[in-house]
Amino acid sequence: MNKNILVTGGLGYIGSHTCVELISAGYTPIILDDLSNCKESVHARIQTITQKNNIPFVRGDVCNRNLLDNIFSEYKPLAVMHFAGSKAVGESIQKPLLYYRNNLETTLSLLETMQNYNVKSFIFSSSATVYGEDNTPPLVEDMKTGSVTNPYGRTKYMIEEILKDLHIAEKDWSITILRYFNPVGADASAMIGEDPNGVPNNLMPYIAKVASGELSELKIFGNDYNTADGTGIRDYIHVTDLAKGHVAALEKKGEESGLHIYNLGTGNGLSVMEVLKSYQETSGVTIPYIITGRRDGDLAASYACADKARQELGWSAKKNIHDMTLDSWNWIKSGNS
Ligand code: NAD
Ligand code: UDP
Repeated sequence: MNKNILVTGGLGYIGSHTCVELISAGYTPIILDDLSNCKESVHARIQTITQKNNIPFVRGDVCNRNLLDNIFSEYKPLAVMHFAGSKAVGESIQKPLLYYRNNLETTLSLLETMQNYNVKSFIFSSSATVYGEDNTPPLVEDMKTGSVTNPYGRTKYMIEEILKDLHIAEKDWSITILRYFNPVGADASAMIGEDPNGVPNNLMPYIAKVASGELSELKIFGNDYNTADGTGIRDYIHVTDLAKGHVAALEKKGEESGLHIYNLGTGNGLSVMEVLKSYQETSGVTIPYIITGRRDGDLAASYACADKARQELGWSAKKNIHDMTLDSWNWIKSGNS
């Protein structure tokens, strides 16, 4: 039986780890990626990790309708997992049109093509950012969304709204929105991981580059928040746990019509200082840091209520912060990035 799943952005950070988990669960990801934010070598690495050498990879833009037609005709995917998009908050403020174009147009092109080919199962990469500033953690799926502060976050909110409208019109579709908290770490093989262009914006890849000596010190953005040690709190989740959450969503909800929304987080908040301490312990490297002012738009604390995914998908995150920092460090040390 055909177990093809179209995975857009499948050579990127989260997509590549999800391809590994899909293959391990017996699916064949059909990877579509334009290589705008990843390396083609990730394709071979996915195949090496999973010991499968026939995983299709198509290089191209998800906005290219002719290409989508060819892919849907040839591979007849059962479902679509949509990771492709632009994801840097700061860049989205500088280049809002690029973000609206890439994130909205990829999604609309895919959904319209799915309609044409009668494919009705869609899993979307959303973000905890849609909860915005007005909710108090732990964040629960039915809280009000939308008070987002930047174009990137607005694209996620807008796509969620588009999917809610689609669900009203197309009752027989299965639409799953997964709201990721803070994905970190790397595959245990250290063959794939996060490989940001330039200076990282996110905490864990930044710490990794300080630990490896590529950057001189970590700047901690504020220690005057109303938190136990004054630094910001987030819900860090190992990328392999996150990837397994996609397989759980596909298996539990991919054939059940309706709109399904889940947080993918651990349910535990950790401060910047706690992450830093763990990284120092696992790497054995002393990581220099300074305290600077708060970063614009940052929240004091954001973490998930992880109950719904556990109850309905039978999924919960298994890896702890030690696993996350150790796999990040092993990935950096491997020289595979
Ligand atoms: P990533 O940049 O590593 O992966 C995205 C992939 O999509 C890249 O390989 C890129 O080359 C590809 N791509 C971009 N535009 C494309 C297009 N038009 N056509 C074809 N390919 C295209 O990002 P990621 O961290 O793996 O994130 C995946 C998804 O998860 C994104 O939608 C992102 O917004 C969302 N998300 C990420 C995080 C995070 O912290 N990493 C948090 C919440 C949500
Ligand atoms: N952070 C920091 N220095 C950095 C990057 C991030 O102190 O160089 C802090 C940031 O203020 C937040 C936490 O680390 O409290 C996580 O930031 P990240 O950008 O990784 O995730 P997000 O804020 O988007 O959830």
